[in-house]
Amino acid sequence: MNEALPISETFTSLQGEGKLSGVPSWFVRLAGCNLRCTWCDTPYASWEARGDQRTVGDLVAEARAGAVRHAVVTGGEPMIFGPVAGLTGALRDAGLHVTIETAGTVFREVPCDLMSISPKLANSAPGAGDPRDPLGVWRARHEERRLDTDALQQLLDRHPDRQLKFVVAGPADLAEIDSLLGRLRGWAPGDVLLMPEGVVTPDPARVAWVVETCLARGWRYCHRLHIELFGNRRGT
Ligand code: SF4
Repeated sequence: MNEALPISETFTSLQGEGKLSGVPSWFVRLAGCNLRCTWCDTPYASWEARGDQRTVGDLVAEARAGAVRHAVVTGGEPMIFGPVAGLTGALRDAGLHVTIETAGTVFREVPCDLMSISPKLANSAPGAGDPRDPLGVWRARHEERRLDTDALQQLLDRHPDRQLKFVVAGPADLAEIDSLLGRLRGWAPGDVLLMPEGVVTPDPARVAWVVETCLARGWRYCHRLHIELFGNRRGT
């Protein structure tokens, strides 16, 4: 309980994405990420990660004090931090259902109830000339790190309740998703979610292809309920 983690923010809101969309949840966002997605909606936990060190005991006490019984451990990338396992284990011991949100590039043994994995497609890479990355250092690192099939497979093998959530920008992304899923074992169509890229509620015409793909393949459409309810702002 004395181990510390860099925390960008904690807040209570409705889970906006995935199988537990709409469930009131206590969120803890770890500051720091091993990727740099061009469209990252939490740059304060990745591109410019800032956080205060807080102990596991302090965080669990805050979670216990609230009325909600679901916790979401997110980032940034929570799986790059060793003490995250102590945090999720202590949250479960306190009676909370725990979701971990990860890009799936790192495997470690962590207790959790729902492993929410969002593998990053080519559309996530920072563009050449991105002012946040003038030398292209992060563009190269991101490409090198964004998909690790072994780590993804271990996460799937260890966590029977999981989801694979893909941020999609256009129909061309499907070939990359199919290629990745073809290299992974043990997933079911109901584990796969497609989430249109963007930080505003999408125009239905723009996402009709996503709906059609989900209907044809038995995958799930992933809305961003929090954007619709609260807009794109911190603490929601
Ligand atoms: S993995 Fe997540 S937190 Fe990290 S840069 Fe990409 S979207 Fe942002």
